[in-house]
This record gives sequence, structure tokens and C-alpha cells, in this order.
Amino acid sequence: MTQEESSQTPGGPELESQGEFAFVDDGFERLWTPHRMVYINGERPTDDAGDGCPFCAVIAKKDAEGLIVHRGQCCYVVMNLFPYNPGHVLVCPYRHVSLYVDLTDEETLEFGILTKAAIKALETASSPMGYNIGINQGAVAGAGVQAHLHQHIVPRWSGDSNFLPIIGQTKALPMLLEDVRQRLVDAWPPGEHVRAMLNARPPR
Ligand SMILES: [Zn+2]
Repeated sequence: MTQEESSQTPGGPELESQGEFAFVDDGFERLWTPHRMVYINGERPTDDAGDGCPFCAVIAKKDAEGLIVHRGQCCYVVMNLFPYNPGHVLVCPYRHVSLYVDLTDEETLEFGILTKAAIKALETASSPMGYNIGINQGAVAGAGVQAHLHQHIVPRWSGDSNFLPIIGQTKALPMLLEDVRQRLVDAWPPGEHVRAMLNARPPR
């Protein structure tokens, strides 16, 4: 498949040309290279549980194959197959639950801890200037896979694009997701640091 042929998938996300992003100084410049579009042109996720749910199915894969950045006790962090920006990750519970209120206290806690750890890793890997962080719960709110709760963490840089409709249509970028994943794995804070972040209190 040529690069031109792969720039648009029928029914899939509209891809954007590398040229539109060539001058974004985000620490990932070397990744802005046209490449095989195997991930971006993959099948769109469904709402089915088990094998039909991408967030359930990916757990059984090896980290690199499934683009998993980190596995916690009850939640994990994975690269978004349809990233808004380089380093766009998702925090998910292992359990196939759709509602935030259905998370156990333990899951809620780790959901938050891994969100913080992902931000720490992104700070180290690519020094974002800001973030969009949030959950799209339910189809009406724009959830792509509404059956399995997931929180978006989108690193932002000045000039990366106009305001991103986080819950709107997918904007996929030609990038090497595995390379970005590895950078985040390398930058992931040690467990004791993550726990220290959780317990940190401002000085009185
Ligand atoms: Zn699931």
C-alpha cells in the first residue's frame, strides 16, 4: 500500500498530512515521519465485551504488541490507536465497566494515580505545555468505546492545532506509536515515586 492510498480509510478517521505538523516543537519531531499505517488503519473498536472490546482484548497481548505503557493492579495505561497528539494515552480499568461510578474505590484510586504517573512520564518524555484530561462517558458524550470506561490524557503544545474537539471526530496522526510508547515506558516514574505523589501534601 502506498502512503497516498493509506491516507484515508473508508469509514475510518480522516488522516492529516505530516506537513501540517512539521514545525511543532514538541520533542517528538523525529517521529513525524510517514510510516506504515497499520495501527491507524486498523479496525474501529466496538462496544462488545470480551474479544469484541479492544480494551479487554488488549490486556492479553504483550505490552509492545498491545501498545500498553504500564500495567497496574486494577488499571492500565495504553496508547490511543487514534491519537489527537503524540503521547495521547488512555487509562483504563481492567474490568469491563462503562460508568465511572461503577469503579471500586481501589480502581478509582489507581485510575487517578496512573493518570498522574502518565503525566509525569509525558513531562519527562516530551515536556508538554498543557493537557486535556477527561472521560467521555456514553455515546452522547462522544465515547468511541462507551462500554469500557477510559480516560484520555492528551498532551498539548502551543500551536499544535486549533482547539481539539476531544469528544468529537477522530483525528489520527501519522506517527510511530510503538516509538512513543517506548519513550513513555522509559520515562514512567518508579512505583515509589507514584505512591509519594499520591501522599504528597503541600507544605504548611
Ligand atoms: Zn472491555
